[in-house]
Amino acid sequence: MKTVPELFGSMVFDDKVMRATLSADVYRNLKDTIRRGKKLDLSVANAVADAMCAWAVANGATHFTHWFQPLTGITAEKHDGFLSPAPDSHVIMKFSGRELITGEPDASSFPSGGLRATFEARGYTAWDPTSYAFIKEKTLCIPTAFCSYGGEALDKKTPLLRSMEALNRQALRVLHLFGNSHVQRVVSNVGPEQEYFLIDRDMYLKRKDLIYTGRTLFGAKPPKGQELDDHYFGAIKPRVKAYMEDLNEELWKLGIYAKTEHNEVAPGQHELAPIFTVSNIASDHNQLMMEIMKKVARKHNLMCLLHEKPFAGVNGSGKHNNWSLSTDTGVNLLSPGETPYENAQFLLFLVAVIQAVDDYQGLLRLSVASAGNDHRLGANEAPPAVISIFLGDELSAVLEAIEKDTPYEGSHAQRLRLGADVLPRFNRDTTDRNRTSPFAFTGNKFEFRMVGSSDSISCANIMLNTAVAESLRQFADRLEGGEGDFDARLHELIKETIIRHKRILFNGNGYDEAWIREAVEERGLLNLRTTPDAMQMVLVPENVEMLVRHGVFSEAEIASRYEISMENYVRTVHIEALTMADMARREILPAVIRYCGDLTDTVNAKRKALPELACACESKLILRLSGLIDGIDAAIEELASCAEAKADRDSTEQAFYIRDVVLEKMAALRALCDEAETLTGAAYWPFPTYGELLFGV
Ligand code: ADP
Ligand code: MG
Repeated sequence: MKTVPELFGSMVFDDKVMRATLSADVYRNLKDTIRRGKKLDLSVANAVADAMCAWAVANGATHFTHWFQPLTGITAEKHDGFLSPAPDSHVIMKFSGRELITGEPDASSFPSGGLRATFEARGYTAWDPTSYAFIKEKTLCIPTAFCSYGGEALDKKTPLLRSMEALNRQALRVLHLFGNSHVQRVVSNVGPEQEYFLIDRDMYLKRKDLIYTGRTLFGAKPPKGQELDDHYFGAIKPRVKAYMEDLNEELWKLGIYAKTEHNEVAPGQHELAPIFTVSNIASDHNQLMMEIMKKVARKHNLMCLLHEKPFAGVNGSGKHNNWSLSTDTGVNLLSPGETPYENAQFLLFLVAVIQAVDDYQGLLRLSVASAGNDHRLGANEAPPAVISIFLGDELSAVLEAIEKDTPYEGSHAQRLRLGADVLPRFNRDTTDRNRTSPFAFTGNKFEFRMVGSSDSISCANIMLNTAVAESLRQFADRLEGGEGDFDARLHELIKETIIRHKRILFNGNGYDEAWIREAVEERGLLNLRTTPDAMQMVLVPENVEMLVRHGVFSEAEIASRYEISMENYVRTVHIEALTMADMARREILPAVIRYCGDLTDTVNAKRKALPELACACESKLILRLSGLIDGIDAAIEELASCAEAKADRDSTEQAFYIRDVVLEKMAALRALCDEAETLTGAAYWPFPTYGELLFGV
């Protein structure tokens, strides 16, 4: 039995392995590429490929693949063997530098949103040396970016790397103004907390809705749901515990720092949080983590549900994207510092984030938009579709003192002069946790809580990084150019930024109806409740200009991503609608009809024996169920006919039609079926109920 330190990273071609297997020269060259984005020579690539191949083969690998993240939401792999023929009918295991650096998968079956005509089906993958290669199922996986023949990004990694570059560029300008000339690189870090449900696999297999759509499309509320809050942080059941232990081991082998695990609010719901790391690696790891969570579950005869809303009426699942900025000198730029300058610098980065979130609410909202996440955001559940920032009382008071030029009451009795005064340390205040805020400051990082549980975290971080890069660009332009006392100009800038963007700050209850009204009517914040609404934000000229200015997306790439998101939305709901109609027609109706038939037979038999019997209960049930049977039949017809309508229209028109018409018909059919469930004998019901699914592990 291996110890955790022995196990950890044992399947990763990481720094330790590189140091042990590469010559000093090659190692130094590769590190320069990793740290500073220096171009890699082919000779270095060849040496790395040799070492990688030898290491992978020694660890049981037979194949290699460029591992990438096309716009399907999951990862893709195209396996190639290391096996090469050698003289005398022998074989050798080999792999060249060129094979390491680039690949050429056929791109024609990956979504491109019109970026690539099928006759130019070639796509290219390019090695991301900053994310370590790893072995999974006897295959050496090389994290890569994926682009079209013309260089347009067809994946999620490319724009994420570009956004990190943009952020680095602008943050360095600002840091240099503060005299931090030794800092050479700024990166954004992410720790994504992943929520999920575990259910029994035998039950799962009895439900077509779970199989086809990842969520339940029917299900009456069970007598007990999450009312008692007795699951949150409760004792973990043995079967779940065994799953978590197994999962941790698999993740540790891949160098993923899975750390905390606990039960969540809903029954059957859990959370897994890795330790934070650089955003592109965090994103790769999160994709891997989701894949492995599902795979390990099957070994325990469980199913891991990553859908944002697997059960109506029960909390959905999200991914809390904990985000911060740090320098290569080890400073967290979102952590209040020790000296007046560090504090002024902290406040400047803080207001940069505030401005970014206010100016680009629309982009942040659309970065988390999906058919699944629509059931969480904007549906009286955490968090709301309106974006606001929670800062906590202490930091809010500091900003208010700066804004109003009033004394800060915390520890100073004087007015704060940034750059001259030491700010009080605002420690993370545990009494101050606000769980309803979509974007909360938690001491030295921001927690963006709107990301959906099944989504890649890339999109959210692309928008966050780029929007903050834009604030920093504006700040640097202003501070670099101006004349006069730097401290005074800095103070002015921070003060102005607070005044201009304080509408986005909100410390209260984000679920409150009154807040949504205030946010929209008085503060003019966006309330984009559904994916089709949110996606329109990518067509707003200022948003497009900003993304293009920082080189994160080209206009063509933006247009293609819009198209893909709308198509995904349409397809997802379409599959749900067809699955509903099928289950209602072929499973629910027959069950209810059979129960009704048995009731009728019973009445007939009883009356035959005793003609004076009223059979009041049976008769009442037969009447109600017969009404429901007719209602369900009609609702299926309506849903089926509208699900197919508008298929010839463009995806935008289809998406709005689905949102306004199809989803309503689905809700109507569901309501009737759920009512029928509460009246039909348990033995007749064709698939496991909510109670069985949620409490069945
Ligand atoms: P919580 O109380 O919200 O669970 P934790 O301290 O457990 O907070 O952290 C939650 C997540 O935030 C973890 O994934 C953790 O690694 C991550 N995290 C902590 N510090 C930072 C940071 N500076 N930048 C990014 N993520 C961070
Ligand atoms: Mg958290």
